[in-house]
Amino acid sequence: MKHGNKLGINSRLIHAGEFENPLGSATVPIYQTSTFIFENADHGAKCFSGEDDGYIYTRIGNPTIHALETLVADLESGTDGIATSSGMAAVNTIYMALLSRGDHMISSAAVYGPSRVVMEQHWSRFGVESTYVNTASLDEIKAAIKPNTKMLYVETPANPTMDITDLRACAELAHANNMVLVVDNTFCSPYLQRPLEMGADVVFHSMTKFLNGHADIVAGIILTRDKSLGARLRSMMVTLGCNMDPHQAYMVIRGIKTLGIRIERSQLSAAKVAVYLENHPKVAWVRYPGLPSHPQHELASKQMSGYGSMISFELKGGFEAGKILMDNVKLAILAVSLGGVETLIQHPASMTHSKVSAEAKKKAGITDGLVRYSVGIEDVDDLISDLEQGLALV
Ligand SMILES: *Cc1c(COP(=O)(O)O)cnc(C)c1O
Repeated sequence: MKHGNKLGINSRLIHAGEFENPLGSATVPIYQTSTFIFENADHGAKCFSGEDDGYIYTRIGNPTIHALETLVADLESGTDGIATSSGMAAVNTIYMALLSRGDHMISSAAVYGPSRVVMEQHWSRFGVESTYVNTASLDEIKAAIKPNTKMLYVETPANPTMDITDLRACAELAHANNMVLVVDNTFCSPYLQRPLEMGADVVFHSMTKFLNGHADIVAGIILTRDKSLGARLRSMMVTLGCNMDPHQAYMVIRGIKTLGIRIERSQLSAAKVAVYLENHPKVAWVRYPGLPSHPQHELASKQMSGYGSMISFELKGGFEAGKILMDNVKLAILAVSLGGVETLIQHPASMTHSKVSAEAKKKAGITDGLVRYSVGIEDVDDLISDLEQGLALV
């Protein structure tokens, strides 16, 4: 069922991905099995030696998971996809496969909180060094490069500041300095941004967010366009045992079918909500890549094919005012996560980024009053009325 890149992305969301289909099922069958039967002892030996590509054991590979891996690899223009149990499993697989004791990594300061916390608090125990900078500034990255720097790790738009990092420039800089460029593409999904096409070496997603899109599954995936890098990452995932479950893979495949229409709808609404907030007298500032007031609006237009549905803003009354708003919205759900069909509101400083040190938060631009709003696919007029009644109480 592989159609390659000839079809448009909406067609590929439905039809890309390889799966074995002896009975002609219209959807991907769920191979809910831990192990696979060998034809005979020779066949078993050949599966292990790699002479035969037959399935062995679900932690190593499974047809339902393979369907998802080839589907997302196709969407991201990658050669290899490695599904993981969660987005954080993808992060740790990447760190463990590509960094060793004595190595140094440079990362965006405003990243998903746990991606930073696990590096600073745990990988540091094994001798991996890290420096967190604003990767929207190439000069800050250059100044942080050391002889042992092996990885440049970027999230763009950054979570939750919405800073945009220039991926093409980062790829050039990384490769001139013997670093791999790793991009967390969760905020965009391959529908809006494809970092491998811009020179990134490794891309990953928390598929918990846009790709699955229905707030019912936690999942991750790693993509690369280099077969040997793919093999290293896969073997680390298999050894760590952070594989996906076949049923989980089926659910994500099902969610991906509507990725395009979900994103089109939610980003249309996000643009309207962003303008509404920007014009509201109680709002201090709004960060949305689609607003001309965003400092990197032009760069966003160049490397993203749409501006997405994540908005950060701060009320003039700071955190106290934000709290009143979060406690009084009725349609938006007060919950972490993002990229689902339902609109979510949360407070990064006390929630998703609470374990990041106060000093690091300040340096990364994660202010105490910053509110993050993930626009879903409800009627936009209802979302705006919901904000209106909440803001009236502030
Ligand atoms: C949620 C998230 C992760 C972690 O993914 P999980 O699926 O929750 O483990 C990583 N990066 C970003 C940007 C995220 O939003």
